[in-house]
Amino acid sequence: MFGKRALHWALPIIALVSMATGCHSRMVVAAKPKPSGPVPLSKAQLKAFHPNAAGAVMIVMFHKFEPNKPIEQGLNCPPAQFMKWLNELYKRGYRPISLTDFVENRINLPIGTTPIVFTFDDGWESQFKYIIQDNEPKIDPNCAVGMMDAFHLKHPDWATKGTFFLLPHSRFTIAPFHQLGFVDQKLQYLLKEGYEIGNHTVHHPFLHSLSNAQVEAEIGGAVKRLHELVPNLKIDTLALPYGSYPKDRKLAVTGSYGGINYHNRAVMLAGWRPVLSPITKPKVNPYNELGVFAAFRPASLDRIKPLPHHTQTAGLQYWIHYFDLHPEDRYISSGQPNLIVVPRMFESEVDPHRIPPGAIVQYY
Ligand SMILES: [Zn+2]
Repeated sequence: MFGKRALHWALPIIALVSMATGCHSRMVVAAKPKPSGPVPLSKAQLKAFHPNAAGAVMIVMFHKFEPNKPIEQGLNCPPAQFMKWLNELYKRGYRPISLTDFVENRINLPIGTTPIVFTFDDGWESQFKYIIQDNEPKIDPNCAVGMMDAFHLKHPDWATKGTFFLLPHSRFTIAPFHQLGFVDQKLQYLLKEGYEIGNHTVHHPFLHSLSNAQVEAEIGGAVKRLHELVPNLKIDTLALPYGSYPKDRKLAVTGSYGGINYHNRAVMLAGWRPVLSPITKPKVNPYNELGVFAAFRPASLDRIKPLPHHTQTAGLQYWIHYFDLHPEDRYISSGQPNLIVVPRMFESEVDPHRIPPGAIVQYY
């Protein structure tokens, strides 16, 4: 009886009747379809938030968190300094994302915010420590995980994200995070809370000084040993010890050892500068001729050290200060993962091959 057109007119009437009778039928929902897919931003939103999906992202490299040691060449970050940075970054609109989400370009953050990636090398005890209180093991509030958990409780929109590049056993570590009785508990906790575990080799060698077979034994062997701790754990990111590549660079990405084939979707250097967005061209363009930012190359990603003074060699404080002065260089989210919004001045940096299927690009 009803043609399509008649039904079209009938729906609002059914909805009205349903509302009047208090009957929450499915028809009420169907009468107000939600828009699907990305929706371009309005002029007012562009003006208010200045989104830039072609901007740069900081990947920060942490090591120890010891309170009574100064920052020595960026390898120790006293807890008070770490808390200061969490507050500074939060206030400025930075929000942590996982390394995997960054390399796969799954940046899903509120409009106007900037992603930041935290990484932690070597599995030091001060990164994740249990203390015994009233006969119960508790996470030390001064270790990195304790501080990040507390910060997340206070600011729920600051997610607990970060990658721990662990050494299963090395000259530096007797076990990941050193406390032998807590290894399993800690790894399970990290995975439950949304952190990631990465590869840092077995013995922390200069990979450049090893034969190809030794390189594969170091990288594949670490996967094997971490799987002994957590079966089926996904290990597909690698931090190069000392930032040293193997002679055959391909082996940092892919290889095999003892029946294990490894493939690393991200390989981390030490470095000193932010990395451009995953939608930018793999070669740095003339705008970045001086090397201000590293190009997005997942097999070679620069990381920033936690140096506390912005006048020092480019470390975390330098870059916080830099982006305060040059906000146009920051990656700023559109608020919709499939809406890529880029200022016209950066249009030439966008690589069309790196735009994910289903995404739309809005230049302004
Ligand atoms: Zn290391």
